[in-house]
Amino acid sequence: MIEIGSVDTPPIKIGVSSCIIGEEVRWNGGHARQRWVTDILQDFVDFVAVCPEVEVGMGVPRPTVRLERAGDTVRMIDPKNGVDWTAAMNGLSRRRASELADLDLCGFVLKKDSPTCGLERVKVVHEGGGGASKDGQGLFAMALTTRLPFLPVEEDGRLNDPKLRENFIERVFAYRRLKDVFAPRWTIGDVVAFHTREKLLLRAHDELRYRELGRLVAAAKTTPRPAFKADYMDRFMEALKRHATIAKHTNVLQHMVGFLRRVDDDAGRREMQEAIEDYRAGIVPLVVPTTLIRHLARRHDQAILLESSYLNPHPKELMLRNHA
Ligand code: SF4
Repeated sequence: MIEIGSVDTPPIKIGVSSCIIGEEVRWNGGHARQRWVTDILQDFVDFVAVCPEVEVGMGVPRPTVRLERAGDTVRMIDPKNGVDWTAAMNGLSRRRASELADLDLCGFVLKKDSPTCGLERVKVVHEGGGGASKDGQGLFAMALTTRLPFLPVEEDGRLNDPKLRENFIERVFAYRRLKDVFAPRWTIGDVVAFHTREKLLLRAHDELRYRELGRLVAAAKTTPRPAFKADYMDRFMEALKRHATIAKHTNVLQHMVGFLRRVDDDAGRREMQEAIEDYRAGIVPLVVPTTLIRHLARRHDQAILLESSYLNPHPKELMLRNHA
Protein backbone atom coordinates (compact mmCIF):
# COMPACT_ATOMS: atom_id res chain seq x y z
CA MET A 1 0.00 0.00 0.00
CA ILE A 2 1.30 3.48 -0.84
CA GLU A 3 1.99 5.67 2.18
CA ILE A 4 0.30 8.95 1.47
CA GLY A 5 0.46 10.73 4.77
CA SER A 6 3.59 12.78 4.17
CA VAL A 7 5.31 14.97 1.65
CA ASP A 8 7.72 12.08 0.94
CA THR A 9 4.96 10.26 -0.95
CA PRO A 10 6.08 9.18 -4.45
CA PRO A 11 4.49 11.49 -7.02
CA ILE A 12 1.17 10.55 -8.55
CA LYS A 13 0.67 11.47 -12.22
CA ILE A 14 -2.19 13.80 -13.13
CA GLY A 15 -2.93 15.00 -16.64
CA VAL A 16 -3.74 18.70 -17.08
CA SER A 17 -4.82 21.02 -19.84
CA SER A 18 -1.53 22.89 -20.39
CA CYS A 19 -3.01 26.37 -19.98
CA ILE A 20 -4.08 25.51 -16.40
CA ILE A 21 -0.49 25.17 -15.24
CA GLY A 22 0.45 28.52 -16.76
CA GLU A 23 1.66 27.51 -20.21
CA GLU A 24 0.91 30.30 -22.68
CA VAL A 25 -0.92 28.18 -25.22
CA ARG A 26 -4.38 29.74 -25.37
CA TRP A 27 -5.77 31.16 -28.61
CA ASN A 28 -4.65 34.68 -27.57
CA GLY A 29 -1.20 33.61 -26.35
CA GLY A 30 -2.24 33.73 -22.70
CA HIS A 31 -2.71 31.09 -20.01
CA ALA A 32 -5.45 30.21 -17.53
CA ARG A 33 -3.41 29.34 -14.45
CA GLN A 34 -5.35 27.65 -11.67
CA ARG A 35 -3.60 28.79 -8.49
CA TRP A 36 -4.47 25.83 -6.26
CA VAL A 37 -3.19 23.43 -8.92
CA THR A 38 0.09 25.27 -9.49
CA ASP A 39 0.77 26.49 -5.94
CA ILE A 40 -0.43 23.56 -3.80
CA LEU A 41 -1.18 20.40 -5.76
CA GLN A 42 2.06 20.44 -7.74
CA ASP A 43 4.09 19.51 -4.63
CA PHE A 44 2.25 16.17 -4.43
CA VAL A 45 1.88 15.03 -8.03
CA ASP A 46 3.64 15.01 -11.38
CA PHE A 47 1.75 16.83 -14.13
CA VAL A 48 1.42 15.51 -17.67
CA ALA A 49 0.44 18.60 -19.68
CA VAL A 50 -1.54 18.38 -22.92
CA CYS A 51 -2.72 21.16 -25.23
CA PRO A 52 -4.61 19.42 -28.03
CA GLU A 53 -5.15 22.60 -30.05
CA VAL A 54 -1.40 23.26 -30.21
CA GLU A 55 -0.63 19.58 -30.84
CA VAL A 56 -3.09 19.44 -33.73
CA GLY A 57 -1.27 22.33 -35.38
CA MET A 58 -3.51 25.32 -34.78
CA GLY A 59 -0.58 27.45 -33.57
CA VAL A 60 -0.37 30.26 -30.98
CA PRO A 61 -1.98 32.74 -31.32
CA ARG A 62 -4.78 31.27 -33.43
CA PRO A 63 -8.35 31.95 -34.49
CA THR A 64 -10.91 30.72 -31.96
CA VAL A 65 -12.83 27.53 -32.67
CA ARG A 66 -16.31 26.55 -31.52
CA LEU A 67 -18.63 23.55 -31.51
CA GLU A 68 -21.47 23.62 -34.05
CA ARG A 69 -24.37 21.17 -34.18
CA ALA A 70 -26.21 20.09 -37.31
CA GLY A 71 -28.74 17.38 -36.54
CA ASP A 72 -26.97 14.71 -34.48
CA THR A 73 -23.50 15.80 -35.56
CA VAL A 74 -21.25 18.17 -33.62
CA ARG A 75 -18.32 19.71 -35.46
CA MET A 76 -15.37 21.87 -34.43
CA ILE A 77 -15.28 24.93 -36.65
CA ASP A 78 -13.07 27.99 -37.01
CA PRO A 79 -15.90 30.33 -38.06
CA LYS A 80 -13.65 33.20 -39.11
CA ASN A 81 -11.84 31.19 -41.77
CA GLY A 82 -14.45 28.51 -42.36
CA VAL A 83 -12.04 25.68 -41.38
CA ASP A 84 -13.47 22.40 -40.11
CA TRP A 85 -11.10 20.90 -37.50
CA THR A 86 -13.38 18.02 -36.47
CA ALA A 87 -11.59 15.11 -38.13
CA ALA A 88 -8.11 16.34 -37.20
CA MET A 89 -9.07 17.02 -33.58
CA ASN A 90 -10.92 13.71 -33.16
CA GLY A 91 -7.94 11.83 -34.60
CA LEU A 92 -5.41 13.65 -32.38
CA SER A 93 -7.63 13.24 -29.32
CA ARG A 94 -8.05 9.49 -29.78
CA ARG A 95 -4.33 9.04 -30.32
CA ARG A 96 -3.38 11.15 -27.28
CA ALA A 97 -5.96 9.38 -25.11
CA SER A 98 -4.36 6.04 -26.04
CA GLU A 99 -0.88 7.37 -25.24
CA LEU A 100 -2.12 8.76 -21.93
CA ALA A 101 -3.65 5.37 -21.08
CA ASP A 102 -0.09 3.98 -21.05
CA LEU A 103 1.16 6.64 -18.63
CA ASP A 104 -0.59 5.32 -15.53
CA LEU A 105 -2.43 8.58 -14.85
CA CYS A 106 -4.52 8.83 -11.68
CA GLY A 107 -6.58 11.89 -12.63
CA PHE A 108 -7.04 14.72 -15.11
CA VAL A 109 -7.84 18.42 -14.69
CA LEU A 110 -9.48 19.92 -17.76
CA LYS A 111 -10.09 23.55 -18.75
CA LYS A 112 -13.75 24.35 -18.45
CA ASP A 113 -15.84 25.80 -21.33
CA SER A 114 -13.25 24.92 -23.97
CA PRO A 115 -14.60 23.29 -27.17
CA THR A 116 -11.57 21.00 -26.91
CA CYS A 117 -10.98 20.42 -23.18
CA GLY A 118 -14.35 21.28 -21.57
CA LEU A 119 -15.82 18.32 -19.69
CA GLU A 120 -19.47 19.39 -19.71
CA ARG A 121 -21.81 22.29 -20.43
CA VAL A 122 -19.68 23.54 -23.33
CA LYS A 123 -21.39 26.03 -25.64
CA VAL A 124 -22.66 24.54 -28.91
CA VAL A 125 -23.90 26.83 -31.70
CA HIS A 126 -26.87 25.46 -33.64
CA GLU A 127 -26.64 25.54 -37.42
CA GLY A 128 -28.94 27.82 -39.37
CA GLY A 129 -29.30 30.56 -36.74
CA GLY A 130 -30.88 28.22 -34.19
CA GLY A 131 -29.14 29.88 -31.26
CA ALA A 132 -26.82 28.04 -28.88
CA SER A 133 -27.01 25.69 -25.93
CA LYS A 134 -24.58 24.76 -23.15
CA ASP A 135 -24.81 21.01 -23.46
CA GLY A 136 -21.61 20.13 -25.35
CA GLN A 137 -18.40 18.35 -24.42
CA GLY A 138 -14.95 19.21 -25.73
CA LEU A 139 -13.66 16.76 -28.35
CA PHE A 140 -10.50 15.89 -26.40
CA ALA A 141 -12.47 15.53 -23.13
CA MET A 142 -14.83 13.12 -24.90
CA ALA A 143 -11.99 10.96 -26.25
CA LEU A 144 -10.23 10.96 -22.86
CA THR A 145 -13.28 9.92 -20.80
CA THR A 146 -14.25 7.28 -23.37
CA ARG A 147 -10.76 5.72 -23.39
CA LEU A 148 -10.26 5.96 -19.61
CA PRO A 149 -13.70 5.52 -18.04
CA PHE A 150 -12.48 5.06 -14.43
CA LEU A 151 -10.09 8.02 -14.47
CA PRO A 152 -11.10 10.81 -12.03
CA VAL A 153 -11.63 13.92 -14.15
CA GLU A 154 -12.50 17.42 -12.98
CA GLU A 155 -12.60 20.94 -14.40
CA ASP A 156 -10.31 23.72 -13.16
CA GLY A 157 -13.11 26.06 -12.05
CA ARG A 158 -14.76 23.43 -9.85
CA LEU A 159 -11.53 22.99 -7.89
CA ASN A 160 -12.19 26.38 -6.27
CA ASP A 161 -14.99 24.70 -4.32
CA PRO A 162 -13.43 22.97 -1.25
CA LYS A 163 -15.94 20.09 -1.29
CA LEU A 164 -15.53 19.36 -5.01
CA ARG A 165 -11.77 19.68 -4.66
CA GLU A 166 -11.71 17.20 -1.77
CA ASN A 167 -13.89 14.74 -3.68
CA PHE A 168 -11.65 14.90 -6.75
CA ILE A 169 -8.38 14.45 -4.84
CA GLU A 170 -9.87 11.67 -2.74
CA ARG A 171 -10.75 9.84 -5.97
CA VAL A 172 -7.28 10.45 -7.43
CA PHE A 173 -5.52 8.83 -4.47
CA ALA A 174 -8.13 6.07 -4.19
CA TYR A 175 -7.64 5.28 -7.88
CA ARG A 176 -3.89 4.91 -7.27
CA ARG A 177 -4.59 2.40 -4.48
CA LEU A 178 -7.15 0.58 -6.63
CA LYS A 179 -4.71 0.27 -9.54
CA ASP A 180 -2.03 -0.97 -7.19
CA VAL A 181 -4.21 -3.74 -5.78
CA PHE A 182 -5.14 -4.91 -9.28
CA ALA A 183 -1.51 -5.18 -10.33
CA PRO A 184 -0.93 -8.02 -12.85
CA ARG A 185 -0.67 -10.83 -10.26
CA TRP A 186 -3.54 -9.78 -7.99
CA THR A 187 -5.13 -12.32 -5.71
CA ILE A 188 -8.57 -12.46 -4.12
CA GLY A 189 -6.83 -12.18 -0.75
CA ASP A 190 -5.30 -8.84 -1.85
CA VAL A 191 -8.71 -7.55 -2.88
CA VAL A 192 -10.35 -8.69 0.37
CA ALA A 193 -7.66 -6.85 2.38
CA PHE A 194 -8.04 -3.78 0.16
CA HIS A 195 -11.82 -3.81 0.49
CA THR A 196 -11.47 -4.00 4.29
CA ARG A 197 -9.17 -0.96 4.30
CA GLU A 198 -11.50 1.03 2.01
CA LYS A 199 -14.74 0.06 3.73
CA LEU A 200 -15.16 3.19 5.87
CA LEU A 201 -14.25 5.55 3.04
CA LEU A 202 -16.79 3.84 0.78
CA ARG A 203 -19.47 4.07 3.46
CA ALA A 204 -18.86 7.82 3.78
CA HIS A 205 -19.75 8.14 0.09
CA ASP A 206 -22.25 5.49 -0.93
CA GLU A 207 -23.57 2.87 1.48
CA LEU A 208 -25.52 1.08 -1.27
CA ARG A 209 -22.55 0.60 -3.56
CA TYR A 210 -20.40 -0.36 -0.58
CA ARG A 211 -22.79 -3.27 0.04
CA GLU A 212 -22.83 -4.20 -3.65
CA LEU A 213 -19.03 -4.28 -3.61
CA GLY A 214 -19.12 -6.51 -0.52
CA ARG A 215 -21.37 -8.98 -2.38
CA LEU A 216 -19.02 -8.88 -5.38
CA VAL A 217 -16.03 -9.69 -3.17
CA ALA A 218 -17.94 -12.52 -1.47
CA ALA A 219 -18.59 -14.06 -4.91
CA ALA A 220 -15.10 -13.38 -6.28
CA LYS A 221 -13.95 -17.01 -6.21
CA THR A 222 -16.73 -18.06 -8.57
CA THR A 223 -16.55 -15.01 -10.89
CA PRO A 224 -14.23 -14.89 -13.94
CA ARG A 225 -11.26 -12.70 -13.01
CA PRO A 226 -11.59 -10.07 -15.81
CA ALA A 227 -15.32 -9.62 -15.11
CA PHE A 228 -14.74 -9.32 -11.37
CA LYS A 229 -11.94 -6.80 -11.82
CA ALA A 230 -13.92 -4.61 -14.26
CA ASP A 231 -17.06 -4.70 -12.12
CA TYR A 232 -15.23 -3.97 -8.88
CA MET A 233 -13.24 -1.07 -10.36
CA ASP A 234 -16.35 0.41 -11.95
CA ARG A 235 -18.49 0.28 -8.82
CA PHE A 236 -15.64 1.41 -6.55
CA MET A 237 -14.95 4.56 -8.58
CA GLU A 238 -18.68 5.25 -9.04
CA ALA A 239 -19.20 4.99 -5.27
CA LEU A 240 -16.54 7.61 -4.59
CA LYS A 241 -18.14 10.00 -7.09
CA ARG A 242 -21.10 10.37 -4.74
CA HIS A 243 -20.30 13.14 -2.35
CA ALA A 244 -19.65 12.39 1.29
CA THR A 245 -21.96 14.45 3.51
CA ILE A 246 -21.77 15.55 7.14
CA ALA A 247 -24.47 12.98 8.02
CA LYS A 248 -22.59 10.14 6.29
CA HIS A 249 -19.27 11.15 7.87
CA THR A 250 -20.98 11.32 11.29
CA ASN A 251 -22.23 7.74 10.86
CA VAL A 252 -18.75 6.55 9.94
CA LEU A 253 -17.19 8.39 12.88
CA GLN A 254 -19.71 6.83 15.27
CA HIS A 255 -18.92 3.44 13.79
CA MET A 256 -15.22 4.04 14.51
CA VAL A 257 -16.04 5.02 18.07
CA GLY A 258 -17.53 1.53 18.39
CA PHE A 259 -14.06 0.04 17.85
CA LEU A 260 -12.63 2.20 20.61
CA ARG A 261 -15.46 1.76 23.09
CA ARG A 262 -13.93 -1.29 24.70
CA VAL A 263 -10.49 0.19 25.14
CA ASP A 264 -10.75 3.86 25.91
CA ASP A 265 -11.61 5.50 29.21
CA ASP A 266 -14.69 7.62 29.90
CA ALA A 267 -12.88 10.93 29.45
CA GLY A 268 -11.50 9.89 26.06
CA ARG A 269 -14.92 8.75 24.88
CA ARG A 270 -16.55 11.99 26.03
CA GLU A 271 -13.95 14.05 24.21
CA MET A 272 -14.50 12.02 21.05
CA GLN A 273 -18.28 12.33 21.20
CA GLU A 274 -17.96 16.09 21.70
CA ALA A 275 -15.70 16.38 18.67
CA ILE A 276 -18.14 14.37 16.54
CA GLU A 277 -21.09 16.45 17.76
CA ASP A 278 -19.20 19.69 17.03
CA TYR A 279 -18.46 18.39 13.53
CA ARG A 280 -22.09 17.41 12.99
CA ALA A 281 -23.16 20.92 14.10
CA GLY A 282 -20.70 22.56 11.68
CA ILE A 283 -18.57 24.05 14.49
CA VAL A 284 -15.34 22.22 13.60
CA PRO A 285 -14.09 20.67 10.34
CA LEU A 286 -13.76 16.92 9.74
CA VAL A 287 -10.04 17.01 10.49
CA VAL A 288 -10.82 17.52 14.22
CA PRO A 289 -12.68 14.24 14.97
CA THR A 290 -10.52 12.22 12.57
CA THR A 291 -7.31 13.50 14.21
CA LEU A 292 -8.68 12.61 17.63
CA ILE A 293 -9.72 9.13 16.51
CA ARG A 294 -6.33 8.52 14.90
CA HIS A 295 -4.64 9.58 18.13
CA LEU A 296 -6.77 7.22 20.23
CA ALA A 297 -6.41 4.39 17.72
CA ARG A 298 -2.62 4.77 17.92
CA ARG A 299 -2.66 4.85 21.69
CA HIS A 300 -4.70 1.65 21.81
CA ASP A 301 -3.01 -0.01 18.85
CA GLN A 302 -6.20 -0.41 16.81
CA ALA A 303 -4.70 -1.61 13.54
CA ILE A 304 -8.05 -1.95 11.79
CA LEU A 305 -8.64 1.79 12.19
CA LEU A 306 -5.06 2.88 11.58
CA GLU A 307 -4.90 0.94 8.31
CA SER A 308 -8.24 2.30 7.12
CA SER A 309 -7.91 4.67 4.16
CA TYR A 310 -10.67 6.76 5.76
CA LEU A 311 -8.13 8.12 8.25
CA ASN A 312 -5.48 8.59 5.56
CA PRO A 313 -7.16 9.24 2.19
CA HIS A 314 -4.67 11.80 0.82
CA PRO A 315 -1.65 13.75 2.08
CA LYS A 316 -2.64 15.71 5.16
CA GLU A 317 -0.56 18.65 3.94
CA LEU A 318 -3.21 19.30 1.26
CA MET A 319 -5.54 20.23 4.16
CA LEU A 320 -8.61 19.00 2.28
CA ARG A 321 -10.58 18.16 5.41
CA ASN A 322 -10.05 21.54 7.00
CA HIS A 323 -13.07 23.26 5.46
CA ALA A 324 -16.39 23.72 7.29
S1 SF4 B 1 -8.19 24.69 -23.06
FE1 SF4 B 1 -7.11 22.91 -23.87
S2 SF4 B 1 -6.85 23.35 -26.05
FE2 SF4 B 1 -7.39 25.29 -25.06
S3 SF4 B 1 -5.43 26.26 -24.56
FE3 SF4 B 1 -6.03 25.09 -22.76
S4 SF4 B 1 -5.03 23.11 -23.06
FE4 SF4 B 1 -5.00 24.12 -25.03
